[in-house]
Amino acid sequence: MKTTSAKPRSLIAILEERRDFNDKFVEYHFELKNPATFQFRAGQFISVKVNEIGARRAYSIVSPPSFDHGFKLLVDLSPGGIGSQFFSSLKPGDKINALGPMGSFQLINQPEAEAHVFVATGSGIAPFRSMIEDLLIDHQDKREIRLYWGLRHEQTLFWENDFQDWVESHKNFAFYPVISQPTANWPLSTGHVTDLILAHQFSPQTDFYLCGNVAMINDLSKVLLETKKILPDQIHTEQY
Ligand SMILES: Cc1cc2nc3c(=O)[nH]c(=O)nc-3n(C[C@H](O)[C@H](O)[C@H](O)COP(=O)(O)OP(=O)(O)OC[C@H]3O[C@@H](n4cnc5c(N)ncnc54)[C@H](O)[C@@H]3O)c2cc1C
Repeated sequence: MKTTSAKPRSLIAILEERRDFNDKFVEYHFELKNPATFQFRAGQFISVKVNEIGARRAYSIVSPPSFDHGFKLLVDLSPGGIGSQFFSSLKPGDKINALGPMGSFQLINQPEAEAHVFVATGSGIAPFRSMIEDLLIDHQDKREIRLYWGLRHEQTLFWENDFQDWVESHKNFAFYPVISQPTANWPLSTGHVTDLILAHQFSPQTDFYLCGNVAMINDLSKVLLETKKILPDQIHTEQY
């Protein structure tokens, strides 16, 4: 993984492809026009200009740093504000303006960490796609990596086949989707990610990365600090 921080710069990019997973979540693949390449750390975001008067919204980069000729974003269109409307109307060939990379929520290469645990709710999965691909695929990191992902409905799941492929190809990777409002057919965990983590065991040398809504971040941070006795500097958070 990268160990130096790049300064934010102006980015112009063209939408190459959009994948509408469902009514809520869409993945966008952009190719850079200017500059031709850029460097960032897994977990960082870009600030996208979403209207003519220069309003901006932050979106985490979901592609790994090795994908340096463009970037992929994952957008939850359901908030419905100007950012959602901007992304909703984007079509292949459209140009966007952004600033980046930004943010200190990054994969930290701590040699003493024995395991990495990533916990997301909803679109909070975005930075973890980049972080896990960087660790597991691009660096073939052999330490334990677990991904917990909370969503309301199983119909809005996406990337689950990719994560399942990684489970099958990498003994050190585990994936736990958790659905809070499941149908009767959902075979896996239900409820909140915090409950599942309470029930699981972790090495004391585990680094935790939490991304998503404020309730999950607050509840889980408390559980990690008070019940699991994880030290504050082993917990890294990004609230959307
Ligand atoms: C560092 C950072 C990284 C982010 N990365 C991503 C990302 O990768 N993908 C992504 O989809 N979003 C991401 N976000 C959220 C994103 O920046 C926007 O806030 C979001 O897209 C809503 O923008 P909007 O203009 O559509 O809605 P707004 O006009 O900002 O809000 C519309 C309404 O929706 C509510 N709302 C705002 N955000 C959310 C939300 N996330 N969930 C539910 N309700 C909400 C608001 O309270 C308001 O009532 C990130 C935010 C931060 C701070």
